[in-house]
Amino acid sequence: MGSNQTIRLIAAQTGGMVETLRKTHDCGPLGTMAVGRVASAAVLLSATLKGRQQVGFQINGDGPLREAYAIADADGRVRATISVPRAELAGDDIVLGAGFGQGRLSVTRQLTDEAPYRGIVQLITGEVAEDLAHYLHTSEQIPSAVSLGETLDASGVLAAGGLLVQALPGADNAVLGPLIERIESLPPVSEYFARGGTPSDLVTSLMDDVEILETRPVNFVCPCTREQFARRLCTIGEEELRKLTESLEDTVVECHFCRTEYTFDKEQVGALLYGARMYDKAD
Ligand SMILES: [Zn+2]
Repeated sequence: MGSNQTIRLIAAQTGGMVETLRKTHDCGPLGTMAVGRVASAAVLLSATLKGRQQVGFQINGDGPLREAYAIADADGRVRATISVPRAELAGDDIVLGAGFGQGRLSVTRQLTDEAPYRGIVQLITGEVAEDLAHYLHTSEQIPSAVSLGETLDASGVLAAGGLLVQALPGADNAVLGPLIERIESLPPVSEYFARGGTPSDLVTSLMDDVEILETRPVNFVCPCTREQFARRLCTIGEEELRKLTESLEDTVVECHFCRTEYTFDKEQVGALLYGARMYDKAD
């Protein structure tokens, strides 16, 4: 993250994280672009978070990809999921906007222990970068320019990343206009990283008189635990849980962010019945 007081630049190199997402969800090319771009967008939004704050970035569309969702926190930990990782389009072109179709983008900012702030906009292109810029402008009143992309080959993700430029109060249009033109004329941000550039190089190459304020690592991390899924099983209620104890099969629940499966045998499900009764009473 860099700034010249009134203009904030955030650059994120996310290739390693996106490759991990591709493998975790066994994505095809379209699915990789979708989950990667949504995760990189969440990383850009997380750059100004502090402490235990986190941000959720979700696209729901009527296209074959259906839904992609990412959560990023102040420490650069990101998790993301996609409902149809191997979605395909008719024809040879891989167009992310067509993969998402018509739909909406929602951003959820969990800034304190209070209720989260949620903003929703209709998708403009479904290519994610334009949609994020539109969201920031209309929903958070921050004029912004966004670039997001990934470079793939048959073996996987070679590079991925994002760039966010924001005009803060008092920003000079004489500085901002040429900067945005410069960004629009650049090759895709992932190609910059594929050639060995770093986020700090990118930020300092875009503007004179820029100060690097902070750098953070970005990693795919899912904080899910077996206890968390046990608690969630309790919330389905005593009656449903009792049915599971009578079933012949073990109960298997899967974390949709990291695809870890947690197996509960009949005794273990039975031990949750007390917890389920407490939930039923609380209703
Ligand atoms: Zn998980």
